[in-house]
Amino acid sequence: MAAETMTKTKWVYAFGGGGADGDAAMKNLLGGKGANLAEMSSLGLPVPPGFTITTEACTHFYANERNYPAELEAQVAAGLKTVETLTGKAFGDAANPLLVSVRSGARASMPGMMDTVLNLGLNDATVEGLAKLAGDRRFAFDSYRRFIQMYSNVVLNLDHHMFEEILDEHKERLDVTVDTALSAEDWEAVVSDYKRAVEDERGAEFPQDPQAQLWGAIGAVFASWMNDRAKFYRRMHDIPESWGTAVNVQSMVFGNMGDTSATGVAFTRNPSTGENRLYGEFLINAQGEDVVAGIRTPQALTKVSREEMGEKAPSMEEALPDVFAQFKDVVSRLETHYRDMQDIEFTVEKGRLYMLQTRNGKRTAKAALKVAVDLASEGLISKEEAVMRVEPASLDQLLHPTIDPASTREVIATGLPASPGAATGKIVFTAADAEQQGGSVGAVILVREETSPEDIRGMDAARGVVTARGGMTSHAAVVARGMGRPCVSGAGEIHIDTRAGELRARGRVFRAGDVITIDGSTGEVLAGAVKMIEPELSGDFATLMGWADAVRRLKVRANAETAVDARAARQFGAEGIGLCRTEHMFFDPARIAAVREMILADDEAGRRAALAKILPMQRADFVELFGIMEGLPVTIRLLDPPLHEFLPHTAEDVEAVAEATGLDPVKLLRRAEELKEVNPMLGLRGCRLGVSFPEIYEMQVRAIIEAACEVAASGRPAPIPEIMHPLVAKGEEMKFLRELTDRTAKAVMAERGQTIDYMVGTMVELPRAAIRAADLAEHAEFFSFGTNDLTQTTFGISRDDSGRFLNAYIDKGIFEKDPFVTIDQDGVGDLIRLAAERGRAARPGVKLGICGEHGGDPASIAFCESVGLDYVSCSAYRVPIARLAAAQAAVGEREKDR
Ligand code: PEP
Ligand code: MG
Repeated sequence: MAAETMTKTKWVYAFGGGGADGDAAMKNLLGGKGANLAEMSSLGLPVPPGFTITTEACTHFYANERNYPAELEAQVAAGLKTVETLTGKAFGDAANPLLVSVRSGARASMPGMMDTVLNLGLNDATVEGLAKLAGDRRFAFDSYRRFIQMYSNVVLNLDHHMFEEILDEHKERLDVTVDTALSAEDWEAVVSDYKRAVEDERGAEFPQDPQAQLWGAIGAVFASWMNDRAKFYRRMHDIPESWGTAVNVQSMVFGNMGDTSATGVAFTRNPSTGENRLYGEFLINAQGEDVVAGIRTPQALTKVSREEMGEKAPSMEEALPDVFAQFKDVVSRLETHYRDMQDIEFTVEKGRLYMLQTRNGKRTAKAALKVAVDLASEGLISKEEAVMRVEPASLDQLLHPTIDPASTREVIATGLPASPGAATGKIVFTAADAEQQGGSVGAVILVREETSPEDIRGMDAARGVVTARGGMTSHAAVVARGMGRPCVSGAGEIHIDTRAGELRARGRVFRAGDVITIDGSTGEVLAGAVKMIEPELSGDFATLMGWADAVRRLKVRANAETAVDARAARQFGAEGIGLCRTEHMFFDPARIAAVREMILADDEAGRRAALAKILPMQRADFVELFGIMEGLPVTIRLLDPPLHEFLPHTAEDVEAVAEATGLDPVKLLRRAEELKEVNPMLGLRGCRLGVSFPEIYEMQVRAIIEAACEVAASGRPAPIPEIMHPLVAKGEEMKFLRELTDRTAKAVMAERGQTIDYMVGTMVELPRAAIRAADLAEHAEFFSFGTNDLTQTTFGISRDDSGRFLNAYIDKGIFEKDPFVTIDQDGVGDLIRLAAERGRAARPGVKLGICGEHGGDPASIAFCESVGLDYVSCSAYRVPIARLAAAQAAVGEREKDR
């Protein structure tokens, strides 16, 4: 190809001055922030000019040993030139300096996880220029010291405590407590101490060349894509590492130029409740980072919110009425333009409004539901779009308990209701303690002065989070909402003494390990544990679920075996039971004696006698289940686990059993030994039990059919039992089991003089079963994909032991996700596709479902839709998630066809 015809890659996209190279649709290339800055600029909104370095540049950086593309330097220089023209300032010019911010901005927002540098371009010369331009020397040197601290921390990797200590020393010497008491000369002195400290630490002076500063910051932002917290956040939110981040270089505007300057964050609707009312916080005379870092407690935007919160400090509406009116107009335009709730950052510089960011706002599940339902009702989006707007997994938040209103609340402090839901746990004061004592180990509440993004792992391990400082938009609040952790922020009454390991509030003292409860919906912190209630599933939830149900094709069933689970399943909208594991009916302590007697019997007659004792109990279970399900399909899987699991294991256990059953302990032990297997997962389990001891399955089929007859005879809706055989691998196995089932069912119906509709089918959970699906389909009327075992047997990875090494696989990028959570579409998925195809060819209309854990995982549900399964089945609490995911999958499939 001739060099002239080669198109050069565009790595830099400019925005500002009422136009832009990019637009909102270019999120993948420009990141969310960059794409929306471009869009706002084109809409004619007041956006400080700047440019975006693409995410492709970041990908290039990592693919090429951290080197930039060759053309980048020239393109950045050109971008900077445009900004200089638009602002009338010059980068590095001592008299008229252009200052810029350098910020990350990935495709998906990752609040606070990556790095930012503000006030870049300041040095010993330009600070004087800034002082003259602003007519404020104090402001200029305050900005310079902020820059030195931020740059040193982010780019030079120096500890920020060093700077805080220097500032504290100055304040002590001056005998003042607040930053605002420092004069221009004081800040000058701080600046020179900062510079000296930097030089001492790194053995070179603080970089004075603005170009060097700029490239240092760009490199640091790209590098921050790979920092620990960003990696952890990505994993938690399923954000691929390959996306990379964009870098936004934008001319600075200052919210800290006195009392007509301000900076703030706004949501067009309440991100916690979804209420349609402008909502947010701002700070007079401050820089943006002051708001999100939660260091100063911000003021309300509107008068109503201020009054509701009982605050004295004036709202933006009252303090800056003209700018506020303009702002209100801009934000409502933005919401209509984007057709979604917006999260907006803005700055007011000497009475002039600037828009720094807009994006679809992160919200709680409760708010997501309300906003989606409201936007559809307002006619801004369709019902189908509303269904697509709610993240299925987030519904989990709504299914969490809240505090029983009837219980007494011993309030020890109140703060802001930053993330809803209630949680009880033991107090921990550090993220590390939360990691150690929380998670699956125990319930802890992380109590912090304020949280920083480094605390993210601790927050994840805690049941809830309390901070003494910070507002609703502080990182703690945003991150907790994203994770669905209840959070109370800015609980100023709490005094934390980390050294003594205690917190004091309202004259009471609580130590680490004491139990507290937090209510993230009211902002209250309560002493002790408090009674909780289950969530209400009406209102917006029911409305959206109704819309989802109208869109979806896949049926949703529940995995349930107890009456409690079955009732919950129906309450959550399950359309049947997709898997009733009969094991628990054998494990039940009241029955275990008869079960052991059955296992220990020397011959078939002995086994049958013991099984006869279990039969009425099994029948009663099924009668109850069928009653609850009121005619909906119920898939009952016959006994699956290895027999030895039912036997006592320790010497004391054996003694106890011998005593209770009158059986000989020696014989008991011997039999237990006999049944022991080297590899029980691949041993006498599943239908191999039924083939070896047909009387067990016969008893179960009898119990099922008798129960169905009983329910039908009582005039209640007749159940349609689907009798399912586990771990089948061969057509001949299925034939044997089918005949056993039909023979027994026929006998029962003849005894009863009743006819019952029932189906006989199989789990598909072995690769051979999938490959030879046609053989199985000859005798099976339905298949249910048991993807737990199918994943285990396809990979040859034990489902019980994989936890020990899966992380290594995920860290090394061999697995993108845990295949026991999200279906491995290429391998396991191919087997499912093949089985579906071959099964349908052999028996047109064979019913197909899935009942492994994947049945409740949204990504796996999308796969099930693509294969055209008839239903998914998952645990009761995930049924709403599955209903919504199934609806989204149906829309996704339709769109694929377009
Ligand atoms: C499965 O293997 O996917 C399944 C549902 O059965 P179980 O988890 O009981 O082995
Ligand atoms: Mg299984």
